[in-house]
Amino acid sequence: MTSKYKHIFGPVASRRLGRSLGIDLIPFKTCSLDCVYCECGRTTAKTIERKDYFPVEEVLGELKDWKDKGGEADIVTLAGSGEPTLYKSLTEIIKGAKEITKLPLCLITNGTLFYLEEVREAALLADVVMPSLDAADEKTFKKLNRPAPDLPFADYLDGLKTFCEEYRGKGRVDLEVFLVPGINDNEDQMTALSLLSRSLKVNCVQLNTAVRPPAEKEVLPIPREEMEKWARYFIPKAEVIASYHSAPLKEERAVSEEELMETLSHRVMSLEDLIEAKGYPKEKTESLIKDLLKKGQIRSRTQDGKEFFYV
Ligand code: SF4
Repeated sequence: MTSKYKHIFGPVASRRLGRSLGIDLIPFKTCSLDCVYCECGRTTAKTIERKDYFPVEEVLGELKDWKDKGGEADIVTLAGSGEPTLYKSLTEIIKGAKEITKLPLCLITNGTLFYLEEVREAALLADVVMPSLDAADEKTFKKLNRPAPDLPFADYLDGLKTFCEEYRGKGRVDLEVFLVPGINDNEDQMTALSLLSRSLKVNCVQLNTAVRPPAEKEVLPIPREEMEKWARYFIPKAEVIASYHSAPLKEERAVSEEELMETLSHRVMSLEDLIEAKGYPKEKTESLIKDLLKKGQIRSRTQDGKEFFYV
């Protein structure tokens, strides 16, 4: 359990990574982008200023405490509700985390700061890097990702290309492309992104869409069949990672704290979603949510008067 910690969370079950222990280095919604689809809401601190938002010792101290108490996971993941490469001493964190846990490390990043040599140097130490690229040109980038004013698309793309070249043979790069209807779900963008992903020689491309509540409520998810169509624009075919709601279940089924955490680690859901899509019993789910919120293991946010929960 990691509820007493400020920076580490989980481990949460991840289909691709196994049991992933998260490290959150950045204050909530501090990011170089303000993506229209962001499931954590609008960016409140849009910046490209790199600094140590928290002391290195505080973050690594938590990790050491977790390890000393017998914590187990398959991988450590730098992720959270802000952009991890904004953390200035990223190299120290990655080296320290690997040293303490002896586990591989995954960096989930929007990739916008790879034009900075020190960011690339830190990222080279990771075993898996998951950058994002949703747009093939400046206009689409601005509309979809709403970057900090001093972040030109050309720098972002050049940085990503340089990083992929330098990183080749050192670890795996999984590129995430987020599709938003009316902005990048068109042949021009998909063809250009497919060519770009091939030139970057990434290990795989993962397509996502707004199946969880986005920052801008008019952003809708793209239906699965259409996502499969766009996936075929990539060579090899991209993987659709958006987890669509399953059909409502007729019968209620038991739910444990562990299962609820696992479900919420994959997607932001309301109480109604959990009852209708997963078939969880109302009272038990309500009480588990209350406990998990109290212990700080999940968070909530309200959209259109509805409360959503996430890990
Ligand atoms: S989706 Fe990621 S990159 Fe985009 S605003 Fe949210 S935290 Fe930042």
